Amino acid sequence: MNPVQYSAPNKTLVDAFEARQPDEKDPKYWNDDEVNSVRAEIKDHYIAEQGRQCCYCGRKYPTGNKAVWDGEHIIAKNLAPQFMFEPRNLAASCKDCNIAKHEDEVRANPKRKSFPDQSQNYVIVHPHFDNYNDHIRWYGEVVRALTPKGKALIIMCDLLRFGCTKAGLEVAPPNAQVDGMIGTMVDPQATQADKATAIELYSAYVKARAQKPAD
Ligand SMILES: [Zn+2]
Repeated sequence: MNPVQYSAPNKTLVDAFEARQPDEKDPKYWNDDEVNSVRAEIKDHYIAEQGRQCCYCGRKYPTGNKAVWDGEHIIAKNLAPQFMFEPRNLAASCKDCNIAKHEDEVRANPKRKSFPDQSQNYVIVHPHFDNYNDHIRWYGEVVRALTPKGKALIIMCDLLRFGCTKAGLEVAPPNAQVDGMIGTMVDPQATQADKATAIELYSAYVKARAQKPAD
């Protein structure tokens, strides 16, 4: 992902903030009217750069409307206001992921002074320093972690919410046998024979249910 490159007037504002003494770098400055154009430039850049996909859940929101998106600080601005305008600490996320992530710590070493600029400096999948598909795999609405960083992201941003919502709406009543079949179908490590059996059993189950009168 290409980091945002500030326009000249915005760069002047950012440079002025970065020249402040550490204790004068107030995270509230983010919402100051003076930096409206900086925030707008950041959102516009990352929404386009990410192809209108949230950097955490990967969902596509087919709009550039800024109200739908949050300018996301990967390291929360309240934890590290000195990185508030660092282009590699910024991305665009959906509201739900941003709310779930809150101000959780993402750094492996929060005491480090300089900006952490390597994949291994972060406990979650990083929008700039990691390849998302190496860590997270989606089977439709069901997410699977491929690495510890993927697992940490799933927990931090509550990425199970998609699969859980779908299961709650569409699978009732709970049926351990049926749930097991679905698990086998989406398990990349299951053998072809096991998958074929699960698909056949599930298909029989769906047909049987379709013939049942509604409860
Ligand atoms: Zn999201």
